Amino acid sequence: MKFDLLTILIAYLIVDVVFAIAFAVTARRHPNLGGPSWWLAACIVIFTGFLGLCLRGVIPDIVSIVIANSLVIAGGICIWVGIRSFFGLRWHWSLFALFILPAAALLSVFMIVWPSVSARQLSMSVLVIPIGVFIIRDILRQRSLALFMETNLLIGFIGAEALIHFIRIITIIITPTSTGSYILSTDQPDRVFLMLLFITSTARLLILITLVNARLQDELNQLATQDPLTQLPNRRLLLERLKHSIDVERRSGKQLALLMLDLDRFKSVNDSLGHGAGDELLQQVAGRIQNRLRDIDMVARLGGDEFIVLLEDIAHPEDAARVAEQIVTDLSRPFQLLRSNEVDHELGREVQIGASIGISLYPQHGNHPELLMEQADTAMYEAKQAGRGCFAYFSEEFTIAVRQRIDLEGRLRRAIEQQEFCVFYQPQIDIASGLIVGAEALVRWQSPSEGLIAPIKFISIAEETGLIIAIGEWVLRETCRQGQRWLAAGFLPITLAVNVSPQQFKRCDINALVAEVLAETGFPAGYLELEMTESGLMDNQDKAVEVFNNLRGQGIRLAIDDFGTGYSSLAYLKRFPVDVLKIDKSFIDDIPHLQDDMEITATIIAMGHTLGFKVLAEGVETQEQLSFLQQKGCDAYQGYLTSKPVSAEDFAGLLRAQQLK
Ligand code: C2E
Ligand code: MG
Ligand code: MG
Repeated sequence: MKFDLLTILIAYLIVDVVFAIAFAVTARRHPNLGGPSWWLAACIVIFTGFLGLCLRGVIPDIVSIVIANSLVIAGGICIWVGIRSFFGLRWHWSLFALFILPAAALLSVFMIVWPSVSARQLSMSVLVIPIGVFIIRDILRQRSLALFMETNLLIGFIGAEALIHFIRIITIIITPTSTGSYILSTDQPDRVFLMLLFITSTARLLILITLVNARLQDELNQLATQDPLTQLPNRRLLLERLKHSIDVERRSGKQLALLMLDLDRFKSVNDSLGHGAGDELLQQVAGRIQNRLRDIDMVARLGGDEFIVLLEDIAHPEDAARVAEQIVTDLSRPFQLLRSNEVDHELGREVQIGASIGISLYPQHGNHPELLMEQADTAMYEAKQAGRGCFAYFSEEFTIAVRQRIDLEGRLRRAIEQQEFCVFYQPQIDIASGLIVGAEALVRWQSPSEGLIAPIKFISIAEETGLIIAIGEWVLRETCRQGQRWLAAGFLPITLAVNVSPQQFKRCDINALVAEVLAETGFPAGYLELEMTESGLMDNQDKAVEVFNNLRGQGIRLAIDDFGTGYSSLAYLKRFPVDVLKIDKSFIDDIPHLQDDMEITATIIAMGHTLGFKVLAEGVETQEQLSFLQQKGCDAYQGYLTSKPVSAEDFAGLLRAQQLK
């Protein structure tokens, strides 16, 4: 088969236009591509088109040339993608090692064995079909086709182009009389044409190299070890250095410290002054930390407002604390931000932040980088909890405590699902008559493995995790159900007091819940008392007053629990429609030995009465305490003196005994 020059050039033009469009599309989405590749793409199209116009002639079989050229490129892409997906390799390695060289060799063999175009087309198709299966697999694995385009097509193009180019050059060298193109077998070798062809294909190759190089640059950026904002090393470099340092210290028997640093209030700077100001702040923070360190130390930015400092070769563990303290002090000095979006740029904006630092030590807290990082992180959270602007060491006991808490949370969740709770009742005694007039409902966890667990072990975690809402709801329902059962059994009515956690108060509609439970159980509202601690009420006083008024409207009694341990302010007591003040056990404990406690107790009783509340003393264990309370006119008490909290069954026994008297 023979083709004239014009045919070949038009065929090239068609393929190049397609190429140019593909490049343009890819280049638009490519941040690392500059002008030259656009310029080259345009050159190819114009140059080939110009040539095509100059050399007029007949067009015998343009389609077959286009197909042949495209097939080679498609084949290149297929081979590349196939090899890559089959071996799961990083592309730049597999590109050179596995694709170009063997494929070039393979095609050179084909060319020698089958010199005609159609035979070569056939051989390419044989290659294309099986490898096409890999392409589809690869597309399916990729989340978007765009990603596939960017990575695989480019590599395929460069592979195929390099191949064609390589073969042409070889052909020119071997047979100086031919034009050097495997799809070109003209009888009149034309030196000018050969030159032009050589230039166009070189230009094409250059474009492809530019594109692939841009992708390489992308990958290199990703792999880079520097944080672009602060120019500090990033996590990757830090981990490498830490690993190396651990090896060195291991041999020398020295120690190192890792300081995990998190800025306090950074978010509010970012939110209020804008991200530009936030970035500037981070840069200044990086500078201050660096100034504080020795040359051998290293500070890295982990991202966000988290930094990490590696102190090598420290003599004593306290040295790390000293550095941490200095950094905390440095960072608590005001920062001047010029990029603030709120104020006059010339004046700048002064902001003050702080830092919390968690410290882990090698070898005391671990002997590999990830573990030390994790532990410094844990310690940092401890520092934050202990009040911002300080540091904390990681300690083994702390981790154990944290793990136990996580484990407890899981078990508590299961306990709720499997209803492992029960309610105990502690009698409340009217001091004047000595009769049981009420009971406080106190939850107990009946763990299948550990037996009866007291609330002190799980209430705080239930509150932190919000599980208290489910538990509290269950206790309320169960208590009302039990109260109704006692009424039905003919016991005289008594008040049943249920504890309400601040979380329940804040996060659910306690009014609706109470109404629902009372309706469901039939327990009279007037005998239900809800106990709340002062702290639970103080967060949102207006809402609390509203909720209290609504509960009161339903006929429910309200009690302030553990009174005296919180705010104990007269102002709020006046606002809340309260029925009972429960004096905290801690004031009762040292009666009659501590004069102060006796005075406080007497004052609370008098004050409660003045405000029209009933006063109940908690934790009464001795007759002396009871006599004192009686003398001061306290209305009621609960405590081990009469009874510990007991099961519903035992409590019914107490009621029965009282009624029989
Ligand atoms: P609280 O509401 O102040 O309950 C009184 C606690 O003091 C009870 O502990 C009770 O057993 C204990 N106590 C009573 N008299 C004496 C005494 O004479 N001596 C001593 N040493 N202790 C006495 P308990 O049952 O362990 O409950 C502890 C806390 O757990 C409760 O303190 C309450 O804040 C919370 N809690 C218990 N049940 C629930 C519940 O269902 N919901 C909520 N939110 N909290 C609950
Ligand atoms: Mg209570
Ligand atoms: Mg209490």
